[in-house]
Amino acid sequence: MKHVIILLDGMADYPIPDLYGKTPLGYANTPNMDRMFQKGTGGMVKNVPDSLAPGSAVANLSVLGYNPEKYFTGRSPIEAASMGVSLKDTDIAARCNLVTLSDEPVYEDKTLIDYCSDEISTQEAKVLIEALNKEMNMEGMLFYPGISYRRLFVWSNGPSDMLLTPPHDITGKNINNRLPSHPVALEVMKKSHEILKKHPVNMARLEKGLNPANSAWFWGAGKKTVLPNFESKYGKKGAVISAVDLVQGIGVCADMAVIKVEGATGNFHTNYQGKAQACIQALKDGYDFVFVHIEAPDECGHRNEMMNKVRSIELIDEKIIGPVISELEGYDDYKIMALADHPTPLSLRTHTRDAVPFVIYQKGDVGNNQTNFTEETASKTGIFYEKGTLLADAFMK
Ligand SMILES: [Zn+2]
Repeated sequence: MKHVIILLDGMADYPIPDLYGKTPLGYANTPNMDRMFQKGTGGMVKNVPDSLAPGSAVANLSVLGYNPEKYFTGRSPIEAASMGVSLKDTDIAARCNLVTLSDEPVYEDKTLIDYCSDEISTQEAKVLIEALNKEMNMEGMLFYPGISYRRLFVWSNGPSDMLLTPPHDITGKNINNRLPSHPVALEVMKKSHEILKKHPVNMARLEKGLNPANSAWFWGAGKKTVLPNFESKYGKKGAVISAVDLVQGIGVCADMAVIKVEGATGNFHTNYQGKAQACIQALKDGYDFVFVHIEAPDECGHRNEMMNKVRSIELIDEKIIGPVISELEGYDDYKIMALADHPTPLSLRTHTRDAVPFVIYQKGDVGNNQTNFTEETASKTGIFYEKGTLLADAFMK
């Protein structure tokens, strides 16, 4: 039996006056999800436990049946997995931004001007990261360049209880009270500044009027993510299709195949057809479970782009869910679920931990519910999973 999950990241939302009091899902034209709901089942599920921040990694772990309260050790170790960096049990992995600090002579007096140094290019960042590794040459510590702003710092036998501040939370603020609680981590950041502030890459950036990437900044640290093998857990050979490194990293940690799709961007202009085709091919290639993750609705929520959010949900319904169901009909039996991981309400432009709607259709379901799939109709079914892992267990069974 084939199982497919279509994950519409951040889809769930509140009713919006400009959408005649409907949510983006309620307003969007989604005939495929509506048919699944009318013939199959649906309800609400809470993927973010109260003890954790409502991040996508936490919520997607739940959706895949891994209790985040047990398995989530931070974003950075999952990103390390997605980058192909295998951590030892004693390693600490941290996110490492290249930030712009102000010019005061004493490090602690500086202000954080730009958490991503005018979105420094992957290539420039790579040169700077290599300079740090070469010139600092620290025992048991290594920087990894990664892609875009996602750089990694791995510290062998590093402390697991460091207090670190995400740099995007303190733009324009003095860094003094926001520095790492661990003196060695602070020392490394200070040393990085000595090397980076006079590096030719930064000199060239200053000349062009761009913010220099003049300090490493650590955050999001954690120990290796260890997940039980997905196939042993559910008896299904699984594949993950996502443009987002965190979701790919969960796939790597769970020993699932991670299938990359050309033109999958993680935003509204993603390759919807390409994701559907990749899912269809994975089913043909013998995968019993495919997890298709689409970031676009979340991104539109963060940007407060109402009509793009509506449209992204319609495009997923039309270009992914429709073709995937058509393909699945050719198999003896299948189940497909569509759901959000967490809400990313347009009005808040950030994630919340509220329950989200899900819909499940199994081949041959002949339900006769007359309503369309929305947050409201899903909650009216009265089916509620307090934990995402319980829904995963029920779906995968
Ligand atoms: Zn998300």
